[in-house]
Amino acid sequence: MDDDATDNHPRTTDSHADSYAGSQAGSQAGDRAGGRAGDHAGDHAVVLGAGLAGLLAARVLARRFSRVTMIERDELPQGEPVFRPGIPQSRHAHVLWSRGVELIELMLPGITDKLVAAGAGLYDSPRDFLWLSPADWFGPVSGARVLLASRELLDQAVRQEVLRNPRIRVRSGEAAAGLAAGPGGRTVTGVELRGGERLAARLVVDATGRTSKAPAWLAELGHPAPEVTRCDSHLGYSSRYFEIPDDPGRRWQGMYVQGRPELPRGGVLMPLDADRWLVTLVGNGEHAPSVREEEFLPFARSLRSPALYDAIRDATPLSAPTAFRNTANEWRHYERLERWPAGFVVLGDAVCRFNPVYGHGMTVAALAAEALAKEIRTLNPEEISAASRRIQRRTTAVAAVPWQIATSEDMRYPVTEGPPPDRATRILQSYMSRVMVAANTDPAIASRFFGVLSLTSPPGTLLDPVTMVRVLSKRGLPTAPHTTDYPSHHGPPVARAQNRPPAVG
Ligand SMILES: Cc1cc2nc3c(=O)[nH]c(=O)nc-3n(C[C@H](O)[C@H](O)[C@H](O)COP(=O)(O)OP(=O)(O)OC[C@H]3O[C@@H](n4cnc5c(N)ncnc54)[C@H](O)[C@@H]3O)c2cc1C
Repeated sequence: MDDDATDNHPRTTDSHADSYAGSQAGSQAGDRAGGRAGDHAGDHAVVLGAGLAGLLAARVLARRFSRVTMIERDELPQGEPVFRPGIPQSRHAHVLWSRGVELIELMLPGITDKLVAAGAGLYDSPRDFLWLSPADWFGPVSGARVLLASRELLDQAVRQEVLRNPRIRVRSGEAAAGLAAGPGGRTVTGVELRGGERLAARLVVDATGRTSKAPAWLAELGHPAPEVTRCDSHLGYSSRYFEIPDDPGRRWQGMYVQGRPELPRGGVLMPLDADRWLVTLVGNGEHAPSVREEEFLPFARSLRSPALYDAIRDATPLSAPTAFRNTANEWRHYERLERWPAGFVVLGDAVCRFNPVYGHGMTVAALAAEALAKEIRTLNPEEISAASRRIQRRTTAVAAVPWQIATSEDMRYPVTEGPPPDRATRILQSYMSRVMVAANTDPAIASRFFGVLSLTSPPGTLLDPVTMVRVLSKRGLPTAPHTTDYPSHHGPPVARAQNRPPAVG
């Protein structure tokens, strides 16, 4: 990724931008003063939404635009990282896979160390965790790096780093309400804010997440609605914080008990910011966990293994359970539209969101920012505006692999609604079941499997002849959905060896 030093767009000495240099507090305090209608639009980009997709896009755009204004509906917190209503998913387990860690570090050098200093953890997944896959417990195999932190901490750290750039500022507590456009809706020329103010811009980026109103805004300009593909496994989340109980003998850092189609219930336990556990329970359809306090522990006990229940049964809860239900994979195919206005791009969850259980949304936001950086590398603001249809297609393309992973896994579940799996998907599902069995114990396959899952390597790395022979020589899934014994450390689950159910395949 190119660095600011290589930026060949002339850097303006914009006193307006300069006045926002420095801290996040400085950026927000100055927000009210500037950006009025009539601003010169030529070198100005507006990013709607200061979530992860919007922040990373702003970081990238600041290389080509002398001013980037972010519009964020929430009042952004100052000081301690705290919950805000615009990111309701922050109360549920979030994993940032290695590819996301790597890209965010490239865009914001030094951020990983700062996050770790603030309490985030970098782990090897699955080696550092107790992880029951649909096949069996992972042995002590190395997979991919993951960063675990509260979303509040992660977002605040990214926001602070992004807002250090003097070209970027945020107007928080203000919502976008529509687009402004030239004749025939052919070129987006700015954005309308709730309250009526109009901000002129050469480029508008919609990164307002899953509640994006882009289809309606485009319709107002005379553009057709995008086709939508949906695949909904009706997965429900219920999450709760716990004090970390003292246990000097504990040798795992976190835990993941996955469900299977015949028992679609699972749970994740992760350490957050060095001082608490976040436990997220999940289930499909009628198995979705409730938010009633008295049902949290019984649900944990009903998983395929009692490991998670055993870990939290005596732990002190720090919060009531909270739910998240709208977890469908949904892709708005803007990239297929024949007509697309110049000066407009949609990024992040606003374009494509995934069943969150695979942990891909944040990494995809980073991949889209990387694709955006490549597309605009040699363009000036006017050329970027003219290239927005191509930019839309290229930044969306990064969703293809995680979409394939999420939907083909979700299609294994009988409650899933969506396009039925075709023959190729069914073959892939069957092969991936074998990969999962092999990855449990074979370090080479685990490394390849997690390379793909972390979006670091292409899926083809699981299909080379040597890997295929290795995978196909392994036994199939155990038939019994339940496992009572579990590894109490990172050694192989010796106790299970005697009572392993007969394998199929
Ligand atoms: C339950 C759950 C668990 C998840 N777990 C993971 C995980 O483990 N790993 C992972 O990588 N991803 C995970 N994700 C996905 C991840 O949260 C998102 O992909 C990620 O936050 C990027 O989203 P975004 O920036 O596109 O949108 P968001 O994070 O939704 O941000 C949108 C922003 O736009 C603002 N906004 C909305 N409307 C307006 C408006 N009109 N004007 C101005 N501002 C507006 C909002 O306030 C918000 O700040 C999970 C998602 C869910 C729902």
